[in-house]
Amino acid sequence: RSGLYIVSTPIGNLGDLSSRALKTLKQADLIACEDTRVTAKLLTAYGVKSRLIAYHEHNGDLQRPKIMDAMDRGEIVALVSDAGTPLISDPGYKLVHEAQEEGYYVTACPGPSAMIMALTLSGMPTDRFLFAGFPPNKSGARQSFYESVKDNQATLVFYESARRLTESLKDAEQILGSRQAAVCRELTKKFEEVKRGPLNELIAYYEEVGNPKGEVVLVIDRAAAQSKAEQIGLDSETLLTKALTYLSVK
Ligand code: SAM
Repeated sequence: RSGLYIVSTPIGNLGDLSSRALKTLKQADLIACEDTRVTAKLLTAYGVKSRLIAYHEHNGDLQRPKIMDAMDRGEIVALVSDAGTPLISDPGYKLVHEAQEEGYYVTACPGPSAMIMALTLSGMPTDRFLFAGFPPNKSGARQSFYESVKDNQATLVFYESARRLTESLKDAEQILGSRQAAVCRELTKKFEEVKRGPLNELIAYYEEVGNPKGEVVLVIDRAAAQSKAEQIGLDSETLLTKALTYLSVK
């Protein structure tokens, strides 16, 4: 069926391409991808010969009409990113929006995403989480960014550059306190590693061994839940006096 197919691709292990994703890529008349060289490697490994078009942050406005034209001609268009799920800290949102507005069939072949894998390996609650993408590069902005998620009652998930990891952990600790965290690195690849511990211990560790190599997802626990008394600003003594007064009145 003609339309736009958002296709997730592996984040490191080629075996993670689903059979439906592969079938869709083979059937696609056109594959919109971030970097044609990166996607060509994946397609070569799987014997896919579909036509490629580069679609990224800097050429989106120029390329989108061409992709829309393809759908207009009744073609099957697949959207992929360099790795993982398109639109997750990757391009695609405007294309999906426009295709939907124009009434084209839009669907997805779901699959790998580093943030979901990291969350599931973090050992932290997954009932509620906040994926906040990449923290800013500079310390000041990064601290404000951590400040903005400080009181969120959700497990916090970030994409962070490995070479800024220690600096970022330090800013996180300064703003969020020494919460439990997990550094999930090189997921699905040969040197996959999940390092868990309170932020201060992770900082000490990376200060000693140096920033790691590769790709990193940082997961940080939510703020400790406040007791009812803390929420309404009462200390335990006042609370006890109130309870005793209530009981004696009864
Ligand atoms: N769309 C992708 C996804 O669904 O995972 C994410 C794209 S984003 C531009 C790239 C970032 O994802 C990396 O900087 C890193 O934080 C994270 N990432 C991607 N692959 C990873 C992997 N194999 N292990 C750990 N983190 C990864």
